[in-house]
Amino acid sequence: MTTKVKKLDTFHVWTVGCQMNIADSQRVDVGLKKLGLNEEKDINNAGIVVLNTCVVRQSAEDKATGLLGKLSKHKKKNNTFICVTGCMVESTVKELKQRFPDVDLWAKPQDTSLIIENIADYLELSSDGCLENLIPDKSNFAEFVPIVQGCDKFCTFCVIPYRRGRETSKPIDQVVNEVTKLSENGALEVTLLGQNVDSYGHDLMPKKDLSDLMYAIHEIKKLLRIRFLTSHPNDMSLKLIETIRDLPKVCKFINLPFQAGSNRILANMRRGYTRDQFLRKVDQIRNLVPDTTLTTDLIVGFPGETEKDFADSMDILNKVKFDKVHVAAYSERKGTFAFRKIEDDIPKQEKRRRLNTVNELQEKIQLELNKKFLSKDYDVLVEGTIRNKIYGRSEGDKLVYLQNYDESYIGKMVKTKIIDVSGWSLTGAKL
Ligand code: SF4
Repeated sequence: MTTKVKKLDTFHVWTVGCQMNIADSQRVDVGLKKLGLNEEKDINNAGIVVLNTCVVRQSAEDKATGLLGKLSKHKKKNNTFICVTGCMVESTVKELKQRFPDVDLWAKPQDTSLIIENIADYLELSSDGCLENLIPDKSNFAEFVPIVQGCDKFCTFCVIPYRRGRETSKPIDQVVNEVTKLSENGALEVTLLGQNVDSYGHDLMPKKDLSDLMYAIHEIKKLLRIRFLTSHPNDMSLKLIETIRDLPKVCKFINLPFQAGSNRILANMRRGYTRDQFLRKVDQIRNLVPDTTLTTDLIVGFPGETEKDFADSMDILNKVKFDKVHVAAYSERKGTFAFRKIEDDIPKQEKRRRLNTVNELQEKIQLELNKKFLSKDYDVLVEGTIRNKIYGRSEGDKLVYLQNYDESYIGKMVKTKIIDVSGWSLTGAKL
């Protein structure tokens, strides 16, 4: 409970990176509001600033370090309290402290309690009652719910296991309670999050899995849609695929990263599967759930990737025809095996060329795939407006612009007829 609020009683939580960070920031936001602080939209005017960072890509890291430089100047003038959390925070922060001496608090990803307690202490407030149930009183209609933290896979290019640690799952009861509360507060859709969400529950006693969790939250009456992110091909079990097929509220949408099409590069990435095993997994999914929307993640320009290796990746794209590809040019991440042991030998321009080649191919594939939606009716959850256009998402996570709808439809599920398509979106009109 709040006992005293000082002049510094405004906060701003800045977030970059994945949905996990968005969900973590939301919980910090609720905790700070429980302390009695007010949200300040302009980061430059906030007394307390929390930066939730990402280092998966260099560009995300640069954004955070650039902002820290600016905030240091503000701190001198306004005495801003600066907290940095997220994946930039290493297990030892000695070096970070030397680089950024103006940061008041370094908190590991998801250490929400530490953040709230330290800010409470700084402001001489009591954090009693502010650390539990950090669910917003009013939910967005689509919410993210972290269910498993960390990753046990140790792909050679990825920094996540070093920053977020080993996999730790939330007990089923706790997730059910969170989702029930979100649903009571207005959420119609939840996305269950984990760096490797398919491995949920193996560390619980007794062991559980993602299917068990989906069956449990499927019972929540007002909830309409359940999504999950991100999958690993080796942990996408038959039971899970059958659950996606059998539970009506579970969206027929799977993001299944393949990362590279060449067996040599897959081995160097330590992904734990071959291209044929990946393709067999895709076949298994499509045989059991034929109308699934399938998206993927791909890295181009991994060290040593030859033209032939790149052609193998393009071949997978041509064979599978994903609905969307999140493609990234390889960049070294400090602390990873690849950073320590493998030379980043593909020139930047070449990585850019391969990235553009993937995007060009994908645009064509996506346009062809989207044409099948034309003149058909789909349920769309209306999310908001972009450049004065009302938009929403289909079950398969397609972006749908909606004609003849106004803002009163935001947060509602509407049936719409698809009247136009592009490679990136659909346009729907009222029936
Ligand atoms: S499975 Fe995903 S999160 Fe885990 S190490 Fe590999 S890329 Fe990183």
